[in-house]
Amino acid sequence: MSARILVVDDVDINVKLLGAKLTSEYFDVLTASNGPAALKLCAAELPDLVLLDVMMPEMDGFEVCRRLKADPKTTDIPVVMVTALSDAADRLRGLEAGADDFLTKPVNDIALFARVRSLVRLKRMMEEWRLREEVCGRFATLPGKQPEPAEDASPARIMLLEDNRLAAARIAETLAPMTAELVHVTNCAEAMERLDASIELVIAGLAVGDGDPLRLVSHWRASEQTRQVPILLVADDSELPRLAKGLDLGANDYIIRPIDKNELTARARTQIRRKRLHERLQENYHRSLSLALTDPLTGLYNRRYVSAHLEGMMTRAGEVAKGPALLMFDIDHFKRINDTYGHLAGDAVLCEIASRAQHHVRSFDLVARYGGEEFLVLMPETNLQAALVVAERLRLSIAERPFVLPDTKREIPVTVSIGVAATDDNGDTPTDLLRRADEALYAAKNGGRDRVESWPPQASPQPIRVSRMAMI
Ligand code: GH3
Ligand code: MG
Ligand code: MG
Repeated sequence: MSARILVVDDVDINVKLLGAKLTSEYFDVLTASNGPAALKLCAAELPDLVLLDVMMPEMDGFEVCRRLKADPKTTDIPVVMVTALSDAADRLRGLEAGADDFLTKPVNDIALFARVRSLVRLKRMMEEWRLREEVCGRFATLPGKQPEPAEDASPARIMLLEDNRLAAARIAETLAPMTAELVHVTNCAEAMERLDASIELVIAGLAVGDGDPLRLVSHWRASEQTRQVPILLVADDSELPRLAKGLDLGANDYIIRPIDKNELTARARTQIRRKRLHERLQENYHRSLSLALTDPLTGLYNRRYVSAHLEGMMTRAGEVAKGPALLMFDIDHFKRINDTYGHLAGDAVLCEIASRAQHHVRSFDLVARYGGEEFLVLMPETNLQAALVVAERLRLSIAERPFVLPDTKREIPVTVSIGVAATDDNGDTPTDLLRRADEALYAAKNGGRDRVESWPPQASPQPIRVSRMAMI
């Protein structure tokens, strides 16, 4: 879907001009000719970005911006102030009002599209992460909402690609207060070699003697490891076509020489903040995901995950040769362990079971905690005979060596009963398979525990008996 941009200006010709430029680049354009109309449209249409004229009668752009940012409904919409004066004081007022960027009239195309694309990209990224978090939240009964971690404003590792010594020194000096380490390189080969994901911003001059920095931009964007590193290009007025190319290739922003120190600082800071924000959202997401889909005690996948996974496997199974097999196992007389040694000892036994199970199934089998002391092993493309062999090995790995309790170092015998079922070819569903495994487990319990049974019953591989230790 193309992004929707709201253009706000009291001079009709300005609206038409900006609108036409944006339309020619396939943006959808909404327009308003005064502040109150813009506010109304924003609330009703939630555009992806607002280009906001500063000088308007009645309500000026600063006030409109302030109101947009104060309303939770519209606060995430990026605002670019369009000002007739390239006045530093004006920019400051805009920033204070919460604006995300600036354009100076007459608006040149490169600046317009660079800033619009970069902000729309950012907004889309935020929306994507929010959506994922929401999906996670729907899955999980997360323990309350996680507090947002505070923004990290610490100095950053910055790479500077610039072969002019004087220019490099000026940039380094300007950025010194926000720099933890400056990696200064003077040619493309060195830049290529030294860029890694710990660099939080690359500032690159377009004219570097030995090679083409645009090739680097393209390379870095294509590589997973460096995709998120922001790139700020530094160009001369004479280099505008190449600058436009660089932005198309994925550079995030640019600055024109002679460099305005405040602008460099502001743009560098914005890029670093965005990178950190992206990382924070990504981390939050992975944390929510692991909370939603794994069991905190054993670290195994939980019932929710394994159910979804089994469903996916079985709908796919028709297309491949074989369906999955399932082991369902349950600790024998676990209640007695809890009652005799306490709940914490019981927890330790659950963890040790999880660990032994993971070591003794095959690498592509998936172990999950299905309930209190009940576990599942999901085995892709496996028939009943093969599943029985794995089940017997698993049973033995638990029975053959006593469990050592963490505090007392006391050794106790633990056994499990295992039910095995494999997919049949006649329209088996996950529910059918789970039910058969459950019946087999029931048979194993009834048959005396510490044993493997399948459903339908089969001649199991000869159980390898260890000397039976009386339970507790
Ligand atoms: P059986 O051989 O028939 O399976 O007997 P059992 O005692 O293992 O089965 P039962 O279902 O009677 O008891 C299961 C016990 O597992 C009861 C419950 O308190 C305990 N349990 C469930 N989840 C946990 C847990 O997370 N930690 C601990 N320590 N115990 C748990
Ligand atoms: Mg049990
Ligand atoms: Mg039980």
